[in-house]
Amino acid sequence: MSGWVAVAGLGPGDERLVTEEVRAALAEATDVVGYIPYVARVTPREGLTLHPSDNRVEIDRANHALDMADKGRRVVVVSSGDPGVFAMASALFEALEARAAPNLVDIRILPGITAMLAAAARLGAPLGHDFCVINLSDNLKPWELIEHRLRLAAQAGFAMAFYNPRSSSRPHQFARALDILRLECGNERLISFARAVTTPEERLLTVSLGEATPEMADMRTVVIVGNADTRRVGRFVYTPRSAR
Ligand code: SAH
Repeated sequence: MSGWVAVAGLGPGDERLVTEEVRAALAEATDVVGYIPYVARVTPREGLTLHPSDNRVEIDRANHALDMADKGRRVVVVSSGDPGVFAMASALFEALEARAAPNLVDIRILPGITAMLAAAARLGAPLGHDFCVINLSDNLKPWELIEHRLRLAAQAGFAMAFYNPRSSSRPHQFARALDILRLECGNERLISFARAVTTPEERLLTVSLGEATPEMADMRTVVIVGNADTRRVGRFVYTPRSAR
């Protein structure tokens, strides 16, 4: 039997949000590759080898998956949320591109529900009009570029979703991001912190930018900032579909 690689999104956490397509790929797989906490979400079974690896080794992990597929194994590379959003799908193609003789084994990217969409649904509809998405981690790009994009996105009137908002290794940067947002959007703008969405640890908090503090976010939080029209209705937050 010939090998394949499927790069699959496991969704934000709730098992019910794993797609049928991803379940089917996992049922046929011989090997699962991924970051330790994501591989831990896959139920072990006979005939399935789990290969958990540490963070920040995306290219090694992708090469491992491609090598196994070349040998006829059926490999699922797992990401949380969607594999194309700040995750393994791009790493796989980067590894493929770097190969002297890329063997275009059967490769599929299987979408999943990304964190910001799960968070938006929990909050109401904060992304109901034009929005943009920024990864606030400076692991793979300079912090200056992040600040630049943040400013322009705010000036363009987008609602915004931020992934990887804050980690202990760079505690000051999110405080700086909040300062920039306050300057560009004003203190009244709504900001939502959605932590561990669809898991038992889920926590949702919406405040004004004037009230927001860096401690409201951690690495399990996706942050959503509304546009100038975003407002509350009861316990929900929504952005109207029309712009002023
Ligand atoms: N591929 C993933 C994103 C990976 S980057 C996706 O599509 O969702 C990791 C970041 O995603 C975290 O720092 C956090 O900002 C966000 N995230 C992932 N799962 C989350 C969840 N259940 N609740 C809130 N944010 C989450």
